[in-house]
Amino acid sequence: MKLFIPGPTQVHPDILQQMARPAIGHRTPECAALWGAARAGLRKLMHTENEVLMLTAPASAMMEAAIRNLVSGPSLHVVNGAFSKRWRDIALANGKDAHTLDIPWGEGVSAAGLRAALEERVYDVVTIVHNETSTGTVTPLEPLKAVMQDFPCTLLCVDTVSSMAGSPVLVDDWGIDVCLFGLQKCLALPAGMAMASVSARAMERAAEVPNRGWLLDYLQLAKGNVKEQSPTTPSTAHLYALVAQLKRIEEEGLENRWQRHADMAKATRAWATSHGWVPFPAEGNRSDTVSCIARGEGPEFVGALAALKEQGILVSNGYGDLKNKTFRIGHMGEHNMNDLTNLFTRFDAALNAEVQA
Ligand SMILES: *Cc1c(COP(=O)(O)O)cnc(C)c1O
Repeated sequence: MKLFIPGPTQVHPDILQQMARPAIGHRTPECAALWGAARAGLRKLMHTENEVLMLTAPASAMMEAAIRNLVSGPSLHVVNGAFSKRWRDIALANGKDAHTLDIPWGEGVSAAGLRAALEERVYDVVTIVHNETSTGTVTPLEPLKAVMQDFPCTLLCVDTVSSMAGSPVLVDDWGIDVCLFGLQKCLALPAGMAMASVSARAMERAAEVPNRGWLLDYLQLAKGNVKEQSPTTPSTAHLYALVAQLKRIEEEGLENRWQRHADMAKATRAWATSHGWVPFPAEGNRSDTVSCIARGEGPEFVGALAALKEQGILVSNGYGDLKNKTFRIGHMGEHNMNDLTNLFTRFDAALNAEVQA
């Protein structure tokens, strides 16, 4: 199967080989060296000096961790798609006083919109999904920094699951207190680990929040890091693969990697527009890692998606209510322009075959 879905993504064969290495004891110096190398590489990738916590778990575990560690009063959740809604739902499931700032799908929260919401009450956190995978919508975070500085009691928590390592995320420059992601999107590894950087002030907050639980407790995870250990048994297969992949990313050059994704996004939009389809997100909110395309005046595409699937090529239909109205091409991770051009050729052939049938 060729995966052009917005995660999980294609894994490089060399990296798959790393996953096949024999297990090692998780209290050995070898494992500590791996743990330390992964954390150092991640700090560089994320552009942060903050503590980096790691856990063998899906990315959603770190969404829940942010809620359990940082929220005792009201929380604010910017909701502009399925994953940002999930974060609000996680807060509700944990019995928190969760408030929603609804933004139309396909748009991101503006500085003025965020300011108005934060003026209503003192929130412990605001949660934002940087790159809404359900709609291919990116929210520029840099313009929000000045707003956050005027509300110093509110911590900024950002999900970068489908943008980290695919498009620019500058954690410290942008003032992100908690920045979380997993492995199976732009990092192009099999799913299985969750990561988060946590600022010093967020760590201080966690120390004051009761009932943080055990598995996701920031303090316990940070304590393990002192010895370069995980409190629980980590997947050493993922650690080997992660360290090797971070090295591959460094060899490509992070900025080259960002540019490769931006170029693929541009080519995808040009190809879609040439068919009469339109990018779903607003101008200025179009993701570099996943393109969400709406039908517009273009041809019906549902049959082509099914035909591609029969050929072993997966492209995603729209999410939820957007099903059959939009489709999504994930051009993240290891894909290059050549792969994408081949996809367009096959997609066009499937459309033409349908016209002739
Ligand atoms: C995929 C995704 C998630 C969920 O990741 P899991 O590893 O399945 O928990 C969360 N947020 C965004 C933006 C995603 O794209």
